[in-house]
Amino acid sequence: FDQRDGVIWYNGRLCPWAETKIHVLSHGLHYASSVFEGERVYGGTVYKLREHTERLIYSANVLGFSLPYSADQIDAAHAEVLAASGITDGYVRPVAWRGSEMMGVSAQQNSIHLAIAAWEWPSYFSPEARMAGIRLRISDWRRPDPRTAPVHAKAAGLYMICTLSKHKAESEGYHDALMLDWRGQVAEATGANIFLLIDGKLHTPKPDCFLDGITRRTVIGLARARGLEVIERAILPEEFAQADEVFLTGTAAEVTPVGEIGPYKFTPGQVCQAMIADYDAEVRRPVATPSTAAVA
Ligand code: PMP
Repeated sequence: FDQRDGVIWYNGRLCPWAETKIHVLSHGLHYASSVFEGERVYGGTVYKLREHTERLIYSANVLGFSLPYSADQIDAAHAEVLAASGITDGYVRPVAWRGSEMMGVSAQQNSIHLAIAAWEWPSYFSPEARMAGIRLRISDWRRPDPRTAPVHAKAAGLYMICTLSKHKAESEGYHDALMLDWRGQVAEATGANIFLLIDGKLHTPKPDCFLDGITRRTVIGLARARGLEVIERAILPEEFAQADEVFLTGTAAEVTPVGEIGPYKFTPGQVCQAMIADYDAEVRRPVATPSTAAVA
């Protein structure tokens, strides 16, 4: 993945993809002082770019550092890298981290770096897997208590439990893992939020110890616009027995129906189809903003 053609925006300028390196003693690598975003470009427009940029800035602040660029500069950098790469439909990954000046847990004075890479990326899960509903393994790892980790930041360190969970799931033939939280309540998948259809209403866990996804909020709005009731509450895994349909939401996952979670089986139906269609229409809805005009 690091030996491609193309360019990456790196600390203010476009660099050849294969030459965009960091020092091996970077604090971000040793102590996970790194935050990132995952964004999608549809028809030349990054969907909800400003919300992603604001979350990136927020995540950095939660980890105690400020990005050396304003939200406007970060959005303009997106336009630059997308124009230079010629990408109109794909994925964008901004990442910010502490540099290598001081080695040790404390690194108050270390430089802050920002890179933005973009690549063509059609769908997180294959179309066949999506139609059938993906299979999730209930992870042995749990989402931590908000007093244990900064759970609302999109911080690299929190992804350790996601990678452990997903690798275990994949090694047993599942597509992804479903993580419970420290109380044993349903939390989220390793890179997406979850919704259950029970008695014609959508239920989704309250995001009190995991990311309140931008897609999650979008889909709640779309469902309500369709007249579907959406309830945010604590959900226990046993309640999967009552669910008629289950789906995941996320920038990468978009709306992905779930066919199986551990012992529970579901048949993706009308509500999954409706939310996929509404989300597809929503992300491709033309919007005119200065930054998108530069990309188009
Ligand atoms: N939870 C986790 C752990 C994630 O990585 C993501 C993807 N960013 C989400 C939820 C969904 O967030 P969003 O809809 O903002 O992409």
